[in-house]
Amino acid sequence: MSKIIDGKEISSHIKSEVRSETEILKKEKNVTPGLAFIIAGEDPASRVYVKNKGKACDEAGFYSVTEAVPGDITESGLLDLIRRFNSDEKIHGILVQLPLPAHIDQKKIIEAIDYKKDVDGFHPVNAGKLSIGDKCFIPCTPFGITEMLRRKNIKTEGMRAVIIGRSNIVGKPVASLLLRPEFNCTVTVCHSRTPDLKSVTSEADILIAAIGRADFVKRDFIKEGSVIIDVGINRTEDKETKSGYKITGDVDYKDCFDKCGMITPVPGGVGPMTIAMLLRNTLDAAKGKIYD
Ligand code: NAD
Repeated sequence: MSKIIDGKEISSHIKSEVRSETEILKKEKNVTPGLAFIIAGEDPASRVYVKNKGKACDEAGFYSVTEAVPGDITESGLLDLIRRFNSDEKIHGILVQLPLPAHIDQKKIIEAIDYKKDVDGFHPVNAGKLSIGDKCFIPCTPFGITEMLRRKNIKTEGMRAVIIGRSNIVGKPVASLLLRPEFNCTVTVCHSRTPDLKSVTSEADILIAAIGRADFVKRDFIKEGSVIIDVGINRTEDKETKSGYKITGDVDYKDCFDKCGMITPVPGGVGPMTIAMLLRNTLDAAKGKIYD
């Protein structure tokens, strides 16, 4: 069996499942999953992310709208936009691309989204439900990670999972998910103030790196035969590429490859899974599977 956990391949299976279920939903219930994107400002990386997500919606047969607003939009202008989508029956999911311009209170914006349309799973209601084990929207990146583990039949029960990073969008929700009875991991979350990080990570059967520092995890951080999930997306300078940069993960892939049991590449690992799970969440919202 290959050591590489191919997120591109797994995500393309999920996308085709979503596509067929969407066709059935349209035929049987006359419902088309609808997703609204809101993006404020000109950040090129954010624009590319939204464009790619929009393309994935088209391919899945979804209806999608993108509201690209100027970076100097007022907070109340943005709140009005959210309220409009909250009451739009064609829209089942609302995604506000983060980060928002500095003058806007991100928390206020996220809380304004109807939690029943919060397909990103960032609303406090969904975050709370996730942590108490209730049905809810699961944030797409953590959902993508656990779906990779599940679809690769990786044994999680009783395994020691160590997560580096405690963000609300990756570290904390993936910890909550792995604690659930369907995964039954023993979970440790590390962060920038964790002393002697290596001594913790080198005991991990499953190591999840969500730090945001290129090639941070080296072979002496990992346990022989462990499963390594690299969430990082870092731009590093590369004069040999046309763009002048390349994308690398938080794990030094080459250094860790021989020692680990399985590993996700960057690009082509967690990234494509995130988009696939966004489609899954939106489809489930349209079906009324998460909230009636
Ligand atoms: P964040 O910046 O919010 O948090 C980083 C975390 O890393 C913090 O909790 C911090 O305590 C920890 N950290 C920083 N330096 C550390 C150190 N020296 N030792 C131990 N811990 C340290 O990050 P985030 O939003 O969770 O994103 C993390 C990475 O994942 C970024 O590269 C981001 O681009 C990427 N990301 C990828 C996807 C995807 O779809 N693949 C989605 C979200 C985020």
